[in-house]
Amino acid sequence: MTMPAALVAARAHAVLVARPRSSVFHAYTGPITPSGRTSRGVRPVCEARTRPLLVLERLAAALDLAGRRICARCSARLSATARRAEQPPNRLDDRARFFAGLSIDDLLVAVAIAGTVDDTYAVGLVANQLHGRVPTITRHRPDDPAAADRFDLEVAIIRRRDHLRVAGLTPEQRAARDAAHAAETERSLRAQAERRKAAAMDRAIDRANTGRYLTRRDRELAAAAGIDTS
Ligand SMILES: [Zn+2]
Repeated sequence: MTMPAALVAARAHAVLVARPRSSVFHAYTGPITPSGRTSRGVRPVCEARTRPLLVLERLAAALDLAGRRICARCSARLSATARRAEQPPNRLDDRARFFAGLSIDDLLVAVAIAGTVDDTYAVGLVANQLHGRVPTITRHRPDDPAAADRFDLEVAIIRRRDHLRVAGLTPEQRAARDAAHAAETERSLRAQAERRKAAAMDRAIDRANTGRYLTRRDRELAAAAGIDTS
């Protein structure tokens, strides 16, 4: 498998840039002005001629893409670069050296660019190797800022993966998944109702056996259990 375009962008320390109301973002590797814009005359990866583009900032947990998708030309360029690029070595410590210097922010850019579930796993591997594993995602967000950043990156990776997994389903697969969910909900509701009824029956039997007052419902339940309460 060749290195995903997402990691090519991360290795180039690309940032994501966009026009304020545009529905796409571009990858950009040039200088950034103090006001957070692309430098005049320096174009994004796709070479689009535009007015200066705003660098998309990180908001707390993840990059704030505001629903934008990557520009198709930027994506194609990055993929072409990925195919030609030097590929990461297989040995773990060589790989760590190959990806050394990728910050959490670089990896968040990679997450945003990841176009397949496999891409998200590739980004996750690099994150684990350079910034340590997050033991389990159900844990609370750590207070320590560096650990919180790593935690947020993990959340972003998993969200992106879930999104791509659903997006990758055919309409038939999606319908099958929804039907399976509905059947599962139905099963668990029925099991819950049966457990409640069994508990009520146990109580009714208990009351009948100890001669306590029985409601009409208790009598019905006890009768269903074969106990004469008349
Ligand atoms: Zn572009």
